[in-house]
Amino acid sequence: MTSQKTKSPSTPASSKPSPPGRGGDRSLSRERERLEERVGPSQGNRDFRNRIKRDRNPPNEQKNIPRGAPQLLAGSAAAQPCILLKAGREKSLLRRHPWIFSGAIERVDGAPVSGGTLPIRDDAGNFLAWGAYNPDSQITARVWSWREEENIDAEFFRGRIANALAARSELKLADKSNGMRLVHAESDGLPGLIVDRYGDVLVMQIGSAGAERWRDTIADILQELCKPVCIYERSDSDSRGLEGLELRNGVLCGTLPDYVEVIENGLRFNVDVAAGQKTGFYLDQCDNRALTETLARDKEVLNCFCYTGGFSLYALRGGAKSVLSIDASGDALRIAAENLARNGLDESRAEWLEADVFQALRTLRDQGRKFDLIILDPPKFAPTAAFAEKAARGYKDINLLGFKLLRPGGLLCTYSCSGGISEDLFQKIIAGAALDAGVDAQIIHHLHASADHPVLLSFPEGAYLKGLVLRVGL
Ligand code: SAH
Repeated sequence: MTSQKTKSPSTPASSKPSPPGRGGDRSLSRERERLEERVGPSQGNRDFRNRIKRDRNPPNEQKNIPRGAPQLLAGSAAAQPCILLKAGREKSLLRRHPWIFSGAIERVDGAPVSGGTLPIRDDAGNFLAWGAYNPDSQITARVWSWREEENIDAEFFRGRIANALAARSELKLADKSNGMRLVHAESDGLPGLIVDRYGDVLVMQIGSAGAERWRDTIADILQELCKPVCIYERSDSDSRGLEGLELRNGVLCGTLPDYVEVIENGLRFNVDVAAGQKTGFYLDQCDNRALTETLARDKEVLNCFCYTGGFSLYALRGGAKSVLSIDASGDALRIAAENLARNGLDESRAEWLEADVFQALRTLRDQGRKFDLIILDPPKFAPTAAFAEKAARGYKDINLLGFKLLRPGGLLCTYSCSGGISEDLFQKIIAGAALDAGVDAQIIHHLHASADHPVLLSFPEGAYLKGLVLRVGL
């Protein structure tokens, strides 16, 4: 393994909570350091559930405030808890967008606790939704339900989780992989809750005060419906801090097996649920990795931001002549090399490079290297639209270099998992990069996250992953 000095990724810090998606930061070692700083070394198999205050039946939430409660409420702590919006600020809620930003709120009545369920009303006092309150977040409330008669209680969560599970089972996703996202937060009607499955291990990630408050109830329901050997909690993404929530990483129930793996389209990948990035694996790229396999025969492949070797292994199985894989994380690369061996793929066709991709692409250009297929799957450069401009420069930079490193007729598979970069903007950035690189390119495929990452129509932020496969002209 070649080593180069690694620069930290040019990923800006977020000032707002980010939409669900890949979340977190992508450097294994950085993540570990941060965790050890805040919560001590990895909790391993120790069940730390008892050390956390258990709040199985959050107060005042087994039943919502009864219908017919006063609609216009006095602004005092004694009033019925309620979020009252400013005039005209109900519009996004009427379109069923589930976030209420602090700027839209006229007044919060009563003395609600963080994570508590409150009715959200327009300025005339009309009911709009039930939401989870978080005074510490710019997203002051996230909607649980639009139905006034709904009770936000354990039955509500059982219904939502069962619905998410049923959707996955109808899609027959288990036929191709034993790993899948079971709950995709807002898009499954459960803001702030992500649940990923790796065989019989579940990894749960909580990113909102509302889901945090129902954490034990949710864990019990997952246990009952999925019967996993372990539920592991990876509530340690950067966005937790922005929600005013402490970081948590450890076994929630059961015992974490020594070795967790995902078997995706017959390829086996080691999943480090405790210290790996995200919940341990990038499930969202499952279909796109499979597509790469079909494109790779006899090609010289460059896989940038390779993590544990996902695209690289597919390319090798697809008959690639050679695959050079680059990542800044030495830990990820070690797992990648192990994954390669575990799958019995030809190691002589694979090269792993620990380096900063921004730098490595320049080095390869200066060396006059050329490739037939290049994959660019960088971390989230823009968690929100506020970072779009800086992120656009990063995307343009790597894509411009990617175009320059391709032989005529070569393919560029390029991705963005930034919630702050729309599909349209991403395509424009890539067009600009091709122009500056002096190449003509055609779009062969428009790509997205796999079907276990559905996108709620009223919540476009859920469509965070977008990709293009481009063929450069002759
Ligand atoms: N394609 C992968 C997922 C990529 S995640 C898969 O299918 O599994 C993004 C990766 O980028 C992470 O592994 C992270 O370590 C790496 N990374 C982040 N910034 C980087 C940089 N500047 N240079 C190289 N790698 C970087």
